[in-house]
Amino acid sequence: MAKPLNASKMVEILRAEGLTVHEVRSWRTHNRNSKGAWGPVNGVMIHHTVTKGTEASVNICYNGYSGLPGPLCHGVIDKKGEIHLVGNGRANHAGLGDSDVLRAVINESKLPHDNEADTDGNARFYGFECINLGDGKDPWPEAQKEAIEKVSAAICRHHGWSERSVIGHKEWQPGKTDPRGFTMDGMRGRIAQRLKGGGGGGDEPTPDPKPVPKPKHVPFPGSGFFHIGQKSPIITAMGHRLVAEGCGRYEDGPSPEWTEADRRSYAAWQQKLHFKGKDADGIPGKVSWDKLKVPDGGK
Ligand SMILES: [Zn+2]
Repeated sequence: MAKPLNASKMVEILRAEGLTVHEVRSWRTHNRNSKGAWGPVNGVMIHHTVTKGTEASVNICYNGYSGLPGPLCHGVIDKKGEIHLVGNGRANHAGLGDSDVLRAVINESKLPHDNEADTDGNARFYGFECINLGDGKDPWPEAQKEAIEKVSAAICRHHGWSERSVIGHKEWQPGKTDPRGFTMDGMRGRIAQRLKGGGGGGDEPTPDPKPVPKPKHVPFPGSGFFHIGQKSPIITAMGHRLVAEGCGRYEDGPSPEWTEADRRSYAAWQQKLHFKGKDADGIPGKVSWDKLKVPDGGK
């Protein structure tokens, strides 16, 4: 149960998820709030449009048609995976559905079969219409499926929901078949992965489980290490890295001994990282040191 997202926040979280978002006409004030409740919201519902063509589909979802005024959803997901926002508030997408399903969504428990139409879904669900003919033949490009995954994950993350808060229209209202062409269980699996930080992408190859050795770098030895009189191969290695970064201020090449040339070179590196004042005094600190990645030559 949650307060619905406002328009700006919706745009913000979708873009933050890496999505391309188009704001269609007056979508920010386009809704059916005069006809009934909007919120508290409990989940996200996925549909297919049974239309083709981005422009025509977006127009239908914005305007609706005789007998079913728009907006017909909150956003349209096109075949390229771009989002077209058409409504903000109550939208005509979910219709009456099963109160047992709503209870399962709220509890994030296993969905029962939908066999009743006793509950107003338009108050409770964000709706996303995906452009597809819904004939079982029209393909679902990976970019579009990935966008469904991202939209759902962005909203779930914002509200603190799990993937179980995302359902298909066919899981809500008896007689509905949408979305058709992928399984909602599979999609929920992808959303769960993304929420875990995995980045989803169910079709991507699994990474090689063998541990890949990380390149070895010299750990930060502490600022006190760098003083006049200090001699160490670490200082030579550091100098070579500073030269490679275009920060070398040496007259005759880096050497194991810490000198004023090392300090001036290191200060140039700190300035390159946009550090200022005391943070660019030429004495290495942990952040700039870690970024320099001084190779550990081994001992
Ligand atoms: Zn639908």
